[in-house]
Amino acid sequence: MDRPLDITIIGAGVIGCAVARELSRYHLRVAVAEAHPDLFGGTSARNSGVIHAGFHNAPGSLMARLCVEGNRLFSDLTAHLDVPMRRTGKLVVGFDEEDRAHLLSMLERGRRNGVPGLKLMGRDELRKLAPAVAGEFALYSASTGIVDPFQWTWALAENAAQNGVRFLFSSPLTAAVRQDGLWALTVGSHTLYSRWVINCAGLFSDKVAALLGLTGYEIYPCRGEYFLLDERLSSLLPLPAYPVPNYRTGGLGIHLTPTLEGNILIGPSTEYIDGPTDWRTTAPTQDMLLREGRRIFPSLSRSDCIRAFAGVRPKLTGPDRGGYDDFVICRREDVSPRVIHLIGIESPGLTASVPIAREVIRLLGLTESLVERADFDPIRQRPMSLRHLGPAAQARLIADNPDHGEIVCRCRTITRADVAAALSGPLPARTLTGLKYRCGAMMGRCQGGYCQTRLVALMEELAGIPREQLLYGPAGSRLFAGKVRDV
Ligand SMILES: Cc1cc2nc3c(=O)[nH]c(=O)nc-3n(C[C@H](O)[C@H](O)[C@H](O)COP(=O)(O)OP(=O)(O)OC[C@H]3O[C@@H](n4cnc5c(N)ncnc54)[C@H](O)[C@@H]3O)c2cc1C
Repeated sequence: MDRPLDITIIGAGVIGCAVARELSRYHLRVAVAEAHPDLFGGTSARNSGVIHAGFHNAPGSLMARLCVEGNRLFSDLTAHLDVPMRRTGKLVVGFDEEDRAHLLSMLERGRRNGVPGLKLMGRDELRKLAPAVAGEFALYSASTGIVDPFQWTWALAENAAQNGVRFLFSSPLTAAVRQDGLWALTVGSHTLYSRWVINCAGLFSDKVAALLGLTGYEIYPCRGEYFLLDERLSSLLPLPAYPVPNYRTGGLGIHLTPTLEGNILIGPSTEYIDGPTDWRTTAPTQDMLLREGRRIFPSLSRSDCIRAFAGVRPKLTGPDRGGYDDFVICRREDVSPRVIHLIGIESPGLTASVPIAREVIRLLGLTESLVERADFDPIRQRPMSLRHLGPAAQARLIADNPDHGEIVCRCRTITRADVAAALSGPLPARTLTGLKYRCGAMMGRCQGGYCQTRLVALMEELAGIPREQLLYGPAGSRLFAGKVRDV
């Protein structure tokens, strides 16, 4: 038997990666076992990317506390990890007196949760702030922001890896037994021995909990479909604009969210489904998104939609009840010794990722003596990229390394050097979507129509991944079967 690990984290979504980074502060041997071949296999790559303020969540809940805390920490954390974010503020717009009553109760709930910078604004102020947004009045939240969820997850994972955490991809947990005071974990084709396990399996956290002895939880998958709009409209929406939500549905209503790259997201819908990985998009829901989106943002046109996609919420409340249950972050030594379970981490999980991870450390520290490492390095830098620089600095960069002057993705100005950087570093891209989310290629207007074949060739040339073996994303998503003709 190899020397046992101290801690094995199951799942490399934003929660598993945040837990990994927080654990890497201590003298511990930590590994992350992820079912997918790369990062970005689950919900963390399929959401709105909003840094929520915390006025939607029930006062006194873990969700409310960890969301407010996460929002507060985001500026410092993203500075340490070199992740772009923007405190845009947010509008929840109202049209009639019923909406006004709801907004007032949201304002009150926000105040009870300790959310700073909330106020009601009238029509004139609303028009001044966001002329293209409809509505008679709005609740304005100054502390809300936006972040690139891919960059955030990647940065947490990279910083954890930099600090010694091992990531094992294509390693689904399929069996777990207690053996001589350790967990023997079957992950993919090998067995890991570990003193502790942290269940961060997202949509499968109920199944992983059961493998580890804790039964009684059920995740109800609830799909949210989106449209992504072209950058053309970006100047019209400087901040996220939401309708008054009907919390019973279990979502926040069809909203419009700008992304840091200048796109606009419309969605997500709220639909309970059978399969946790049923990420299909459907024509009736897409029509509904446009209809609902136009209520708040009348300039919306279908021709600006460049992509449709869906995320799935790991809800603990089923369709009969709807609404929200609190995050479950628990230890149950009686049935599941030395395991910390994180179950039902739906929105605002992205915002709360680091406080959730710190809650895990707190539970672990109840019985483990955790010794901080003097050499923990909290700083991570993303690769230098031509598109973030002015002309003079660009010229210097290209003179230094001509690969910065070779544009691969025209829509986003992604260069060969950007691709090379995403294929190296502590956690290099291993799939085409892994590459896309790290370097930003294939994410512009043409969605890869121009650069996808070039990226495939670069993955072969720079990372040695033969095209016949290259995966688009999940296991089995091969892009090529073989040659049709010799060229
Ligand atoms: C439509 C939508 C919009 C959202 N918008 C926001 C927002 O704007 N702001 C916000 O704060 N939050 C938002 N959220 C919530 C946020 O995205 C989630 O809370 C967060 O991404 C959950 O992260 P996770 O790591 O728990 O899950 P995931 O990202 O799903 O990661 C779990 C990982 O576990 C792996 N796994 C599963 N089973 C196993 C196994 N047996 N062995 C090994 N690995 C396994 C999976 O492959 C996956 O990679 C939104 C969610 C949705 C669905």
